[in-house]
Amino acid sequence: MKINDHYMNLSSNYLFADIAKKVQAFKAENPEAEVISLGIGDVTQPLCPAVVEALHKAADEMGQSATFRGYGPERGYDFLRNAIVENDYRARGIDVDADEVFVSDGAKSDTGNFQELLSEDCVVAVTDPVYPVYVDSNVMAGRRIVKLPCTAENGFVPAFPQEHVDAIYLCYPNNPTGTTLNKEQLKAWVDYALQHNALIFYDAAYEAFIQSADVPHSIYEIEGAKQCAVEFHSFSKTAGFTGVRCGYTIVPKTLPVPLNQLWSRRQCTKFNGTSYISQRAAEAIYSPEGKAQIKATIDYYMQNATHMLETLRALGYECYGGENAPYVWMRTPDGMDSWKFFETLLHGANVVCTPGVGFGPAGEGYVRFTAFGTHEKTEEALMRIKKQ
Ligand code: PLP
Repeated sequence: MKINDHYMNLSSNYLFADIAKKVQAFKAENPEAEVISLGIGDVTQPLCPAVVEALHKAADEMGQSATFRGYGPERGYDFLRNAIVENDYRARGIDVDADEVFVSDGAKSDTGNFQELLSEDCVVAVTDPVYPVYVDSNVMAGRRIVKLPCTAENGFVPAFPQEHVDAIYLCYPNNPTGTTLNKEQLKAWVDYALQHNALIFYDAAYEAFIQSADVPHSIYEIEGAKQCAVEFHSFSKTAGFTGVRCGYTIVPKTLPVPLNQLWSRRQCTKFNGTSYISQRAAEAIYSPEGKAQIKATIDYYMQNATHMLETLRALGYECYGGENAPYVWMRTPDGMDSWKFFETLLHGANVVCTPGVGFGPAGEGYVRFTAFGTHEKTEEALMRIKKQ
């Protein structure tokens, strides 16, 4: 049996499995220890009431022959695509057409699958450290990857590649560093892509956490981006949909290659849509009540982020991110390596962080803390770090 050899080139990315193993071993040796995780990027707060009501209503509709729905339209239901266009784009003065919106089951599938439309010999650039899906999905397809280091030394702003690349993945606000690009910095990348005939894959999964006025919510706020960029969105962190599953991707009809048509063709062949129930739930976050309720949850997480930043900085740690994102990226003290710091924190404070090197070589010497915990657990973890 011949298999896709490129899978053999995947690095054994067992980051979260490795963390779980180490935490388990620690718990076995220290059964009385109460470990707090500030490591995993999943949310903890429940769905907001507007979403729950929409889920119930949609479930009831599915139980009545008059309102039952089977397969839905391939690009998603009009009610959701129109709500996305109106609220996420037109309200910000951005022109996006409903035909450019593809509802998905989340940003992981789309950020992972979209590379299928690229030629095998395309060279792909990613920032380093990076959300691993962009790298692994391109390695599976046999493409060469160029890494653009983002560290405190360059202010976490990637330098342009030294060679021609065909596609560039940008994720802002960033996972894992929690840092952002302002409009001018993003414009430089749009101009670069236009000049060099490259495509930008812009992952805006954390857009809802933006607090600063000069940080763009969409790459299409930048002139020319509809000629060079595809944008991915997720309701996972915006509205606690990690278990509900829904997101969307914007594929402009104005790109120099017919990606809108090709993505539609790809999805029609390999994807049968996001459930009606999930799409009704997503629609509910655009109602006035839904908007207010999801904002309250985002504010809750951002209070954790602020508290973490203030406490860790007061303790003398060098921290980044956390102002427009639910992640705080911290430099380890005295040049300690990421895993060593992870162990020190686990043993000393019984707190779990994520070693930065797990996101790429430029993440060495950093760790990531997430703001997705409860106030109580976050506070307790910080108290223990203080005492350590
Ligand atoms: N993009 C980034 C940068 C993420 O951090 C995540 C999830 O952690 C995703 C995409 C995936 O989101 P979804 O749950 O919509 O698949």
